[in-house]
Amino acid sequence: WKEALGKLPRHGAIMHLFIAIDAEGLDLSHIDDPAHLVVQDWGRSLQDSQNLCSFFIPSILDKSLCPEGKHVIHVYSSGGEPYEPWEKLKPGSDEYEAYKEERASVLWEAVERCIPDIRERVEFSIIGSPLAHEAFLRRDRGTYGMAWAAGTSAPYSGLLRNILPFPFPDLKTPVDGLLRCGDSCFPGIGTPSAAASGAIAANTMNHVSKHLDLLKEASTIDPMYEFLNPGILGDVYKPIVGGFTPSSELDASQIGFQTNIPSTKPASTSESAEQV
Ligand SMILES: Cc1cc2nc3c(=O)[nH]c(=O)nc-3n(C[C@H](O)[C@H](O)[C@H](O)COP(=O)(O)OP(=O)(O)OC[C@H]3O[C@@H](n4cnc5c(N)ncnc54)[C@H](O)[C@@H]3O)c2cc1C
Repeated sequence: WKEALGKLPRHGAIMHLFIAIDAEGLDLSHIDDPAHLVVQDWGRSLQDSQNLCSFFIPSILDKSLCPEGKHVIHVYSSGGEPYEPWEKLKPGSDEYEAYKEERASVLWEAVERCIPDIRERVEFSIIGSPLAHEAFLRRDRGTYGMAWAAGTSAPYSGLLRNILPFPFPDLKTPVDGLLRCGDSCFPGIGTPSAAASGAIAANTMNHVSKHLDLLKEASTIDPMYEFLNPGILGDVYKPIVGGFTPSSELDASQIGFQTNIPSTKPASTSESAEQV
């Protein structure tokens, strides 16, 4: 399990460029959407970080993000920036700074399509390199995340992996009662997905009545959450699935892991302390 999961393929990194500009006399009224995707050449891979990038001007939507007469802009590449050329460079060195400028120039060019004189307007800019993501976010080799090709199932991606292609391993481990969560397991990369894997882990460990109670409680917090109330559906659902929760998947032996790792399952109350 450790061997297989430790060797899963990963994406490259994302190149980032954060810009603050003087927007004096800048008319952006032609932009309906503050987020744009720029593809240099549709004949090239969209994974190529020098081919695909996006820019986003959040201050079009929310004026409180910067002082009046300014704009903040975030430009970023696909997650395909290769790490290898970067790993030879020392942050702060002239070579590193020059390579940062070289690799980020495609990001400047993307936003220039919308604001041609952006470089004259710049008041602040900073580039996020793979080494920055590695150092500040502790992402291994600055990666955007695990990369399993769509259409096939990753190892340990669950009992349905032969029927449905799940590109991320599930939460289970060979250790009883130990689950993983985060963006290297199902449902995958992104803050919503990483949070969802945490919710799946919590649900796996609890009786279904706890989920239903929590949903009921959340539904009373604000009228906009009323839809979360499980209502009569919850009453029907509870006796049907209650017997299967907490999930038996917490017991590694039941899901086919052959392991010598000692069980961490809490001892039953009938066992004496000595037996434990
Ligand atoms: C550059 C970049 C841009 C992204 N942009 C977006 C986006 O716009 N929208 C979106 O939804 N998602 C985005 N993502 C993806 C999203 O950020 C991740 O999928 C999500 O944050 C993963 O959450 P996580 O908790 O699994 O891991 P992480 O957020 O990576 O958290 C792991 C934590 O573990 C810590 N850690 C690592 N190793 C150790 C160790 N040995 N000991 C102790 N602690 C350790 C790290 O410091 C880190 O705090 C982006 C990712 C990157 C790298």
